[in-house]
Amino acid sequence: MTQTADTVIIGGGIMGTSIALHLVELGVDEVVLLEKSFLGAGSTGKSGAILRQHYSHEVTVRMARESLKYYESFHQRHGRNIDFRQPGMLFLARESEREALEQNVRLQRSLGVDTKLLEAEFLREADPQARFREDALAAWEPEAAYVDPHASRPWFRRSGPRSGRYCSNWGNRGRDRGREWEDSRRSDIRRRDY
Ligand SMILES: Cc1cc2nc3c(=O)[nH]c(=O)nc-3n(C[C@H](O)[C@H](O)[C@H](O)COP(=O)(O)OP(=O)(O)OC[C@H]3O[C@@H](n4cnc5c(N)ncnc54)[C@H](O)[C@@H]3O)c2cc1C
Repeated sequence: MTQTADTVIIGGGIMGTSIALHLVELGVDEVVLLEKSFLGAGSTGKSGAILRQHYSHEVTVRMARESLKYYESFHQRHGRNIDFRQPGMLFLARESEREALEQNVRLQRSLGVDTKLLEAEFLREADPQARFREDALAAWEPEAAYVDPHASRPWFRRSGPRSGRYCSNWGNRGRDRGREWEDSRRSDIRRRDY
């Protein structure tokens, strides 16, 4: 049972598992991931896994941009197919939201995102089968993509333990018992004042 660690990560969502994986890749020896329930028990397990850059804050746009590049080269980097698809995305709004949408698009373009505003007329012509509101408008983002969330999450888990130590009470549920996982309860760590 793990008693000590250089790094303890709390929470086995996409953030925790990704941090664990990258620390291990950077050569950090003892990475312990603590998950109170099971991996992906939180928002991660519910995510639609859409990779869009349409956000209204500079930091989130920049993060989404980096993230998109990462997922784009995921197969190349890690040799695992997570079903990356890039159909683009329409972010729909109403005329009353035009100013905010325009502001977002301006911000995103200033940060290098390929995006533009489309008017209702254009939307209807582009897809006659779709029904758009009279006052619909949209931000079109051709680079937007999605992945299979269930294919990417376990990958982080499987890749982590190869070098670092990677623990969760998940193993206690028997699903991964006897494999690369080591049983660990949060209480063990707490007792040792992590
Ligand atoms: C319905 C839905 C759809 C979404 N769709 C998208 C999308 O298409 N694209 C997108 O980019 N984002 C989407 N999101 C947002 C995205 O899922 C979250 O931003 C992301 O999953 C957050 O990851 P996380 O690792 O920070 O948190 P979480 O996945 O919530 O992970 C936190 C983990 O910490 C554990 N935990 C909490 N407290 C403790 C503790 N004290 N000790 C040990 N473990 C603990 C929890 O059990 C949980 O597993 C969506 C979210 C929802 C809910």
